[in-house]
Amino acid sequence: MNQNEPNPEKNNNFFNKNPLIAFILFSIVIIVLFKAVIGDDSDLAGKINGQNITRTQEITYADLKRLIREKQVEKVSIGQTYIRAIGNDGNGNVAYTTRTVGYDESLIKMLDDNKINYVGFSESNWFTEMFGWLFPFLIIIAIWMFFAGRMQKSMGGGILGMGNSKKLINSEKPKTKFDDVAGAQEAKEEVLEIVDFLKFPDRYVELGAKIPKGVLLVGSPGTGKTLLAKAVAGEAEVPFFSVSGSSFIEMFVGVGAARVRDLFEQAKKDAPSIIFIDEIDAIGKSRAAGGMMGGNDEREQTLNQLLAEMDGFGTDTPIIILAATNRPEILDPALLRPGRFDRQVLVDKPDYQGRIDILNVHVKGVKQDADVDLEEIARLTAGLAGADLANIVNEAALLAGRKSQKTVRQTDMREAVERAIAGLSKKSRRIDEKEKRIVAYHESGHALLAETTKGAKKVSKVSIVPRGLAALGYTLNTPEENKYLMQRHELWAEVDVLLGGRAAEEVFIGEISTGAANDLERSTDIIKAMVQMYGMSDVAGLMVLEKQRNTFLGGGMTQGREYSDKMAEDMDTFIKRSLQEHYEEVKKRLEEYRGAIENIVELLYAKENISGDQVREIIEAFEIENGIETKLEPKKNIPSSPKTVIDE
Ligand code: ADP
Ligand code: ZN
Repeated sequence: MNQNEPNPEKNNNFFNKNPLIAFILFSIVIIVLFKAVIGDDSDLAGKINGQNITRTQEITYADLKRLIREKQVEKVSIGQTYIRAIGNDGNGNVAYTTRTVGYDESLIKMLDDNKINYVGFSESNWFTEMFGWLFPFLIIIAIWMFFAGRMQKSMGGGILGMGNSKKLINSEKPKTKFDDVAGAQEAKEEVLEIVDFLKFPDRYVELGAKIPKGVLLVGSPGTGKTLLAKAVAGEAEVPFFSVSGSSFIEMFVGVGAARVRDLFEQAKKDAPSIIFIDEIDAIGKSRAAGGMMGGNDEREQTLNQLLAEMDGFGTDTPIIILAATNRPEILDPALLRPGRFDRQVLVDKPDYQGRIDILNVHVKGVKQDADVDLEEIARLTAGLAGADLANIVNEAALLAGRKSQKTVRQTDMREAVERAIAGLSKKSRRIDEKEKRIVAYHESGHALLAETTKGAKKVSKVSIVPRGLAALGYTLNTPEENKYLMQRHELWAEVDVLLGGRAAEEVFIGEISTGAANDLERSTDIIKAMVQMYGMSDVAGLMVLEKQRNTFLGGGMTQGREYSDKMAEDMDTFIKRSLQEHYEEVKKRLEEYRGAIENIVELLYAKENISGDQVREIIEAFEIENGIETKLEPKKNIPSSPKTVIDE
């Protein structure tokens, strides 16, 4: 284990913050140094003549001519503005200087006549000449740096991004532990092994096991992804390097890539360590989804550098890169390949119990009144994320403070909830009681159909915690084995499960909602594919109407129809009729299992997340009680870590 502190940027000194002043000081030092080394012009003249000068003396032009006439000087150097002469006045060598008075032919003649050696010299040397040229440019650069530096300050970096990038990379050794992350049980379990890799890398390396490199934390903003990543570092007691994807995208091409290089360099130095990249979608957006800007060179370079760095270190180097996003689907597939971010951990919004736990974590530091009831607050905040709850607790404390109370009361908490909800964007909205009821019936309908239909994928989790913008609830399943083929009855079973949501709304609530749009689209697509691609209907028989696309069951784009209008009409009729027939069947099933649905809804409503086993228990009990022959399949091990969403 590495006991070194992860060099935090302590030399965050004056000059780093004031590049302009640093630059000016630097220039002055350089000029003074040159002056000292090269000396000034009078010495220069002396050196040209190879004489040791003991004194310099300024004389008039007439005096110079007199000295020449009297042969009191030995050597004369003639420049454009100065003339120098070396002479000896008996007390040592003297350098006489005088100003020229224009071009004087008689002076040359006089020197020739008196046989005095003379040379011409250029008064400026390479340094002063160069400096004269460069100085204005340097001034311009300095001004530019000053303004650009200001512009970037808000982004947290300096213009000399490559040198200063360490500032953007936060390095710490977090004290956060798993206990500080409340509620996210499944996510915590999934990252648990990472802690072990980091703590005892040798164990794995000796076995020849490949330590995973990248883990993608997927979840809405504020669900605690950063917190979880920190907790992993805290539990493993390793340094935590964090950076935000958006901070890589600067205005100068190449800066982002340099930063990535820096980041990995630091992390490697302090390995075992964790790199955390927040908002990875800012750099990892799929090239295809580039949008209107066309290519973004800077982003692409940064992304390529990141990929190169990830491929660059061996699986025996215990560095784990955790990256956060709430839109994994827009990421470049290159990022998700094996050896890169090949693992995904869902960090969901908390359910009822999760919200109580999170509230409990955050009220710890707050003085509460005895009347504070966190369960009520948890009930009022369905659909909110951990960060929202943390805000609510803080807001309540502020409210109590404003009223000069000694403790935070339940009324403050309630008011804080109302304020938080008013200020929330649509993305993170509370689900009200009415919606919650609709979603609970809808999802229970899916779940019941999934369990009681032969060939349907079994349920592993049902949830009415909203996920993302569109999904108010979901039912998850895991196919029991990897499937490459689907039989006809399995496709119809999928249609039934999809229709279960809408049917439950109709049967139990009495009115249908917009919540089934996605289900209906998918069931329509399945039947269409059965007709067009799989030769599974009487409409087209074995005739293929639509060539297979890469996407499973995806009807997708058509490039002009290759079949008759009659066929198209027949197909439409078939799809519509099949959907209707199956819908009626599904409704019958729901009627038959009315009591079971009510029980599932009750549990789901209270807990917000329930497992497939809980669903099966309820159904089994209902069947026994009502003497219904069981439709449940014999118990198999249904994995508890679901990966596929069968409904949103
Ligand atoms: P994300 O990175 O997913 O946007 P953060 O990790 O930055 O979310 O969460 C912001 C804050 O919200 C955290 O610092 C913490 O105070 C609070 N928070 C979020 N989720 C949890 C949780 N599961 N348990 C405790 N606090 C949480
Ligand atoms: Zn649905």
